[in-house]
Amino acid sequence: MIPPVDDVDTLRAERTGVARACRVLAMEGLVSDILGHVSVRVGDDRMLIRARGPGDQGLLLSTAADVVLVDLDGRPAEDLGDRALPQELAIHSSVLRRRADTGAVVHAHPPDVVLCSIAGLGLEPVFGAFNIPAMRLAEAGIPVYEYCGLVRDGRRAGEMVAALGDRPAVVLRGHGLTATGPTLAAAVVTALTVNRLASMVAAVARTGRQAPPVPEADRAGLPDLGSSFNHDAVWRAYLAKLGAAGLALP
Ligand SMILES: [Zn+2]
Repeated sequence: MIPPVDDVDTLRAERTGVARACRVLAMEGLVSDILGHVSVRVGDDRMLIRARGPGDQGLLLSTAADVVLVDLDGRPAEDLGDRALPQELAIHSSVLRRRADTGAVVHAHPPDVVLCSIAGLGLEPVFGAFNIPAMRLAEAGIPVYEYCGLVRDGRRAGEMVAALGDRPAVVLRGHGLTATGPTLAAAVVTALTVNRLASMVAAVARTGRQAPPVPEADRAGLPDLGSSFNHDAVWRAYLAKLGAAGLALP
């Protein structure tokens, strides 16, 4: 359910959600210092997105005050003050415009995802029950957008969305990833899941050995955890981890 724009309390909660998502991504190493951003859809034609003020302390210490309301062309829908919008805002606006099923977008630069993309290591289902959602994502295929530069305009973002297709995530070669989902939890957990897969693919490559294919029958026997159950449960676990690390937001 998309909250109405004039519901201030709901928007406050959504802003805090975006800030929490940034903190989780930083805590887990998918973003470092000030790079990376998260957005959520608000109404038909607006989004809340992580911006950057002059005193920005990085994504790990994001707060609701770092999150601003803009339309899907990137025009401010409120006074931004001295907060600057991300250079790659088009990533978010293009996905939210072209994918009606998407309620949130994560753009991050996870080192292992980038390593795999530049080393030509495909994100294949190299394991089975270790992480079933990651195995299923890999099984269905994670597309790669080949352009290595910043995605700063509608043309590049359109190419990235075309590469994404109807999948939940796309790898940007030599750059990072864009993950999507119907909810903030889904987009964040998908980004974490792709990163987990990439870390294992990279670790296997470091051993110098080739991972043998996981037998089809072994994969087929793995249970379907249900994506929304999994996303919400994992999201809650990461919020609890934020709290345990002293990084919770009220
Ligand atoms: Zn980027």
